[in-house]
Amino acid sequence: MEKPHCTAIVLAAGRGKRMGTEVHKQYLLLAGQPVICYSMKAFQASGIIDEMILVTGAGEEDYCREQIVDRYGLSKVSQIVTGGKERFHSVWNGLQQASEEGYVFIHDGARPFVDGKMISRLYETVLVHKACVAGMPVKDTIKIVDSQCSVAATPDRSTLWMVQTPQVFETKLVKKAYEMLMRDPENYTVTDDAGVVETLLGYPVRLVKGSYENIKITTPDDLEVGEVFAGRVCS
Ligand code: C5P
Repeated sequence: MEKPHCTAIVLAAGRGKRMGTEVHKQYLLLAGQPVICYSMKAFQASGIIDEMILVTGAGEEDYCREQIVDRYGLSKVSQIVTGGKERFHSVWNGLQQASEEGYVFIHDGARPFVDGKMISRLYETVLVHKACVAGMPVKDTIKIVDSQCSVAATPDRSTLWMVQTPQVFETKLVKKAYEMLMRDPENYTVTDDAGVVETLLGYPVRLVKGSYENIKITTPDDLEVGEVFAGRVCS
């Protein structure tokens, strides 16, 4: 049987205010290479991924084509799409360009350390369940707090996972969920793609083991930790 078509949508349209730098976080250098290149190289190298759609900030399209796509030989990039104000707008812009067939891997360009084995685990799961996301069990105890910062509840830690990307879906399913969201986005509070599928369609989403190294580069501390992990990838 022919392998289903798999598209990776790589998001790089965030402004990264928490980093406090002029350069957006996904373009900062990590061990000499822009943060975004690491995940795109992993998708480029994976036999599972057929195509990449890169979603960038308005006005960054030429920079991305020349300095990222061409410079690092990312030949699976079929389109560079302009993102939107919030992450979900950027995802929507990318999804509209994705083929209806097969599966889509939605990935934060600010997460450099996705690897081929993680992509395979997600692929095997999405073939069966149609919706899955990378994540890891939390190591710390988590508290729910009220507006005064007093503890309102302590959920059972064994049931808690922190969620990462890639978030992977049958393309038809996630497009349908996003179409519903975009008719009335003000009505929902969703912070990830699984949340859109769960809330709008009520569809169950599986968690697949990501890794504790699959961090999102958000603040300057993350860059320091990322340098250590990048050293392992490059060595
Ligand atoms: O801001 P946050 O850390 O949640 O961003 C996660 C990912 O989504 C980053 O890779 C960022 O570039 C992307 N993003 C986007 N469009 C936005 C906001 C975030 O592509 N409007």
